[in-house]
Parts: sequence; structure tokens; C-alpha cells
Amino acid sequence: MKASLYHYKTLRESPSEAELVSHKLMIRANMIKPLASGIYSWLPLGFKVLKKVENIVREEMDSSGCLEILMPMVQPKDLWDETGRSSEYGPELLGFKDRGDRDFYLGPTHEEVITDIGRKEIKSPKDLPITFYQIQTKFRDEIRPRFGVMRAREFLMKDAYSFDIDEKAMRENYQQIRSIYVKIFDRLGLDYRIVNADSGSIGGSSSEEFHVLADSGEDLLAFSDTSDFACNVDLIEEKDIDKIPGMPSPDGKGSLQIKKGIEVGHIFQLGDKYSKALGLKVQSDNTMKFLQMGCYGIGISRIIAACIEQNYDDKGIIFPKELAPFDITIILINQKNNSLINEKALMFYKRLKKSGFDILLDDRDCSPGVKFSDADLVGCPNQIVISQKALDNDAFEVINRSDLSKKELSESDLFAFFC
Ligand code: ATP
Ligand code: MG
Repeated sequence: MKASLYHYKTLRESPSEAELVSHKLMIRANMIKPLASGIYSWLPLGFKVLKKVENIVREEMDSSGCLEILMPMVQPKDLWDETGRSSEYGPELLGFKDRGDRDFYLGPTHEEVITDIGRKEIKSPKDLPITFYQIQTKFRDEIRPRFGVMRAREFLMKDAYSFDIDEKAMRENYQQIRSIYVKIFDRLGLDYRIVNADSGSIGGSSSEEFHVLADSGEDLLAFSDTSDFACNVDLIEEKDIDKIPGMPSPDGKGSLQIKKGIEVGHIFQLGDKYSKALGLKVQSDNTMKFLQMGCYGIGISRIIAACIEQNYDDKGIIFPKELAPFDITIILINQKNNSLINEKALMFYKRLKKSGFDILLDDRDCSPGVKFSDADLVGCPNQIVISQKALDNDAFEVINRSDLSKKELSESDLFAFFC
């Protein structure tokens, strides 16, 4: 992609209300554009990263046999009355009336809708087990939207829902989907931990959260210093935080240490909470059984902010390979009226592209300083510099964004290095 055709426009300043590094950098890199409080558009660079997260999640969900669907964002209040959550969910639930005076909500989550699909589609134990998932926009009227897409009102979530005949099968399915989550977060290159958690307004018997560790995290997590015990401090009765560090671990092994985390995933064993409320049952062994459900969320858009919180320096974002909008930025130095530089850059571009790299060719008519600082800000893993000096000496600078180390490579060594 030629930068001159790509709306490659960065900002020098970030909004004064932006507190988190990720929020500032996403605005400055022009990945997102605020529209209203907690509501953002995704511009080309940001959208590309969003798609990368989506694709990793989709690949892993698909390959384990989960089935992708798409449910409506608009949900009738009647359905929420059946589970009682229309009155329980609270002010994050944004409602409105249609022209016929019927009440609807913008979906903050989809347990009601999926259970309604289940009661219409699942007719016998032969239809089980089954897990559906979607990648969809959610709306929650958060009391304090902040930190950019980290705590937005409108955001993208992957939510999956499993259906099983009994508790044992549900727990096995839960463990299998948990292991898919481990694969997903490993592939995303995040430093994360799994902790026991409170099931909150979603409900169910037990749940676990996936947290990206970061000092800017809003959640406090307690870890035993000698065992695998880890939980969200919401689960600990003692709410004075100073008293928790050093406290004996609830599993009786070691003492607790506290770290901060950003919740990027949350998985729940729902049991029959929704199937009972909505009458989702099948006949098995001559009895009618309410199905056992699990639900599994991943904050697709929040993951990008969380990833940046773990990967940046004073020059900008340092994207891990899997999430970078491009693999390589080719930087042309003073290329205007220099056909040799343009031709060489295009040749590099084509050859590297053929080898599977996604490349941003910075052919903009602007100073080298601007190109270097933009490349550092956006944070693609590699930069290749093409100048007249590089052509004269057959020595092309290759810059590694993560540590800004540089090496000079001849044309043939450069292709041997990348391809
Ligand atoms: P939080 O405790 O951060 O408010 P939650 O527990 O209400 O999140 P879940 O219902 O578990 O969230 O939703 C699944 C995932 O969706 C979360 O793990 C998180 O990654 C993401 N998510 C939730 N709320 C938001 C939000 N306001 N903005 C962006 N992502 C969000
Ligand atoms: Mg949660």
C-alpha cells in the first residue's frame, strides 16, 4: 500500500482528557476518531488492527468446531422480561421505543437472544453439544466511559455460548473453550493471567477472567506467591487493599500478592439459569432436561488498547507481529525527482509482497524526519530505508522497531534476511 493513497496522517497532539498511553497513541496514530463520549470510529490503520484481532479469534474458534453466527444488535425488551434482567441489569442497558411504542434495547450482551435461538433450534440430544459464537458490536451505557476504546460505550466483542445435555458435559465444553482462549491470547502475544472471578450480572455458578497485566489496569488481582491460586480481588471479602498484600492465600498455600490487570476475556459456567427462564429443554432418558449453558466473551476492541499498554516506548506503539497493521514500512528519503529511489523502492515492495509481507510504502512528499517519527509512532515491526546513499553503497538500513536497533544490509542480504 502506498502511503500517499492510504490516509496516512498522524497527529502531533492527543486530547487533554486522554489519560492512558494507549488512548493517546491510538488517537495520535489516527487509528480511532471520537464521535461522542465512549463512541469511536475506526480509521483505516486502526480497522486493520481490529481485523487482525478478529481473524485470530475467528480462526481459533472455527478450528475447534464453534459455529459463527450473527445476532441482532437490537433486542426486544419482552425477551429480557422473561429472564427478569430488564429490571436487574441496571442503567448500562440503553432502551428505546419503536414507532409502534414497543420497547427495545441495544444489546449489551446476548444470553437472551442465543437462548431464544436455542429453544427454537435445539430439539433433541442429537443436536448437542453445540457452541455458537459471534463477533458483534455491543452497547453499554457505561457510567464513566474513558481510556478510549478500553472502556467505551460501543465496543466490539466476541461472545460464544455453549449448550450441553448435563453439567458434566458443560464443564468439559467449558474447559475446551478455555483452552481455545489460551491459544488465542498466546497468539496475540500478550502477557496475561487467568483468575477466578465474580459472575456479576451475567450470573452462573463460576467464572474466570483473562487479564492483561498492566499498571494502568482497573482491576486488582491477587496471586499466591507459592501456588497457582489467582483471583480478582472482588472475590475477597477484605476490601482494604493494604490488608490484602501478604494475607494468607485462601487455598492455604503461601501469601497473596497484588497486581493490576485489564480484563480482556471472561468465561462463565451458566448452568441452567437462562435455559430455565426461557424454557430451553430436550427430552433425554424419558425426562425433559433443561440445557446446561456456558458463555465466553472476548473484548476484541479492548485487546488493542491492552496490547498497546504492554508494548510502547517514548516514540510510540511497538506492535507485536501478529497485530501490526503492516509488517514493514519502506521509507523513501528525498525521492521526489529521483526515479532511481522510486524504482528501487517499488522493486523491494513487489518482491517482499510476493514473499507474503504486508507493506506500507512511505512515498509521501514530506521530510525524512516526519516519515521516521510516523513509522515509530505507528509501530510496525520493521522499517527499510531507501536513500540515494543506500543505492550508491548497496547498503540499506533495516530498523527493528522493538529496540530501534539498526543494521545495514546489501540488497541480496536484505532479501535473504526477510524472505
Ligand atoms: P468490565 O468489568 O471491564 O466492565 P465486564 O465484566 O462488564 O467488563 P463482560 O460482560 O465480561 O465485561 O464482557 C466480556 C468482555 O468484553 C470483557 O472481558 C471486556 O474485555 C469487554 N468489555 C466489557 N465492557 C467493555 C467496555 N465498556 N469497553 C470495551 N470492552 C469491554
Ligand atoms: Mg467480565
